[in-house]
Amino acid sequence: MLPPSRYTTAQIKKLLPIVMTFLLLIFALLIVFEQMKIDNTQENYDDIGEDHVGTSTETPIRIDAFKASDKEKIELIKEDVRHIMETLGLDLTDDSLKGTPNRVAKMFVNEIFGGLNPRKKPKASTFDNKYKYGEMLVEKNITVYSTCEHHLLPIVGKAHIAYISNGSVVGLSKMNRIVDYFAKRPQVQERLTIQIVKELQAVLKTEDVACVIDAKHLCVNSRGIRDIESSTVTSEFGGQFKNKETKREFLDYIKLDTKF
Ligand SMILES: [Zn+2]
Repeated sequence: MLPPSRYTTAQIKKLLPIVMTFLLLIFALLIVFEQMKIDNTQENYDDIGEDHVGTSTETPIRIDAFKASDKEKIELIKEDVRHIMETLGLDLTDDSLKGTPNRVAKMFVNEIFGGLNPRKKPKASTFDNKYKYGEMLVEKNITVYSTCEHHLLPIVGKAHIAYISNGSVVGLSKMNRIVDYFAKRPQVQERLTIQIVKELQAVLKTEDVACVIDAKHLCVNSRGIRDIESSTVTSEFGGQFKNKETKREFLDYIKLDTKF
């Protein structure tokens, strides 16, 4: 037989609201803590973006990135751009704005983010180094038009590339095309520099490749700190370019005073 309860029904009725309030309070506190955790993560992401911290040398891309065709992507992005513009209060029936969602969607997929698609990577054709040219080859002032992945604003600058052939050479315009391919992605300048070097190392089958990029980030120049004069220099030196003299020779050739 169960022992008789220590509380009378009247007492339980009195206690019930107190117990319920206590439980609700704990529940509310749990929600507040959870929200604080989310806010913190959001803050972290904001800091990562403002400080332009990249998280990997590979472009963070999902495996299902190319399930949808370019045409399907343009249709979806068109609606997204329209939504942004409408939220901002713009009148999309105005003749000047009518075509903007479609124009932006096409530009994203076909142009400024076209380099996300591996199918658009320039073909890796090389030639035999017939002249047995064993010195450094430098291609400087290659125009870079990219997009900062933290603000989706332009990065504009110059890339300077050098390599020492170990038997094969690439056409000069191939270097421009490789730069352009990796630039046409949401980017972090450090990653762009490394991706260019890695690709050329693979194409030329040598570690002896270097790249320096000097670029202006419109997210720094036109908003935020609004520093119109500053530019960012990044470099990646592979193989022989890690040697002090080889590196010096390359840097002397490019005499870094990039004009924009
Ligand atoms: Zn930025």
